[in-house]
Formats: sequence, C-alpha cells, structure tokens
Amino acid sequence: MQLTIMGNGQQAFTPNRIFCVARNYHLHAQEMQASVPSEPTFFMKPQSSLVLSNQPIVYPELTTQLEYEAELVILVGQAGKPKTEQEALSFIQALSLGIDLTLRDKQAKLKEKGLPWEMAKAFDGSAPIGAFTSWHDQISLDKITFSCYVNNELRQQGISSDMVFSMPQLVLSIAKLWSLQPGDLIYTGTPAGVGPLLRGDTISLQSDLLGKFSWQVV
Ligand code: ZN
Repeated sequence: MQLTIMGNGQQAFTPNRIFCVARNYHLHAQEMQASVPSEPTFFMKPQSSLVLSNQPIVYPELTTQLEYEAELVILVGQAGKPKTEQEALSFIQALSLGIDLTLRDKQAKLKEKGLPWEMAKAFDGSAPIGAFTSWHDQISLDKITFSCYVNNELRQQGISSDMVFSMPQLVLSIAKLWSLQPGDLIYTGTPAGVGPLLRGDTISLQSDLLGKFSWQVV
C-alpha cells in the first residue's frame, strides 16, 4: 500500500511501522476511568491495519462494540535516534488524521485478565488513515485542531496542545526503544468523546490544516 503526502505536487510513500500511544489526553483518560500516565505507553499495529479514506471499514467479527478514536498522525521522515526534543522535531515530515479503531468489549476483557491488547487494537482495518500534509516548523505543533463526525454529528474535538506528551516528546520516547525509520507512523492518542460505530455509519475526520477524510462502515 502507498500513502500520499500533499505539498508541492503529490508524493507517494510506503508506510513502515505503526506506533500508537495510549491515553495521551487528560479528558480521554478520565472517560476511560484511567489515570494520566507519567510516561507514555506505546502499542503497535501491523500494516494490514491501514485503510485509505473512501475505502470501507469492515465491521470485524468477535465484537459488538467497535469504537472510533480520532487521532493526529505523524509521519517520520528520517532514520535515527533523536536525543533532544529539538532534534525530534526534525524527524516529523508530515501530519495526517487517522482512527485508532478499538474492539472496546474485547479490550475490557483482555485488560481485566492482564493480557496483551493486540486482538482489540491490531486487527485488519483497525487504522484508517488520511492523506498527509508536509510539516515544516512555521506550523505550530501546539495549535492543530481536529474534529470527528459520525453521520455528520460532531463526536470529538481535539487540539494538540491538550496532549499529555507533545508530538516531539512522543518521537523522543519511541526512539528510546526503536531506532526510527522513514515511513514510520505515530498515532498520537485520542481526545475525549470516543464511542461506537455501527454498520452503515459514515465517519469523517476534519482539520483546517490537514483536510477532511471519510470512511463508511460495512
Ligand atoms: Zn488511541
């Protein structure tokens, strides 16, 4: 699969690893009745999770509670391990919006038993992704707003300044365990307002800076 970066013309790239962060907005941690972490918790999704906009989201088996989590997504543009937040900035090549789809019922059972989350988070089609917009340091990473609509009804509104760990801090933390590679994607966590998707629903993500992307659940 190829993803797109919009900028001066369009540029295609092959996605690499997909990192996601749990509980990165205070109000979302609160709605999950979880504490705000003192360091970020990461999990991963395979490439088979990605779904381009206008492609269908296939309602998975093994759940009756498929939930959306709208998120800002970072595209890493270079290889290596940044050592400071300033260096981490230079690893951010582009930004997009994506959905961290979650089987909430399955996740609750796995959490209860202290088991890993993959089945609830990393299934096929679990990471819808929009087109990317090139990022450069004239665009403040603290002021990016985005919204999530289900059937044209507003469900989530986020601003990047509400993140518990900022985008450069996330890049820096990941680099402590994984040497970054071009094409790595980072789903940066969801604001409050997560909720269910049903077959037939249309979900749209929108941002003044990043554009609008939609998917239908089938
Ligand atoms: Zn998430």
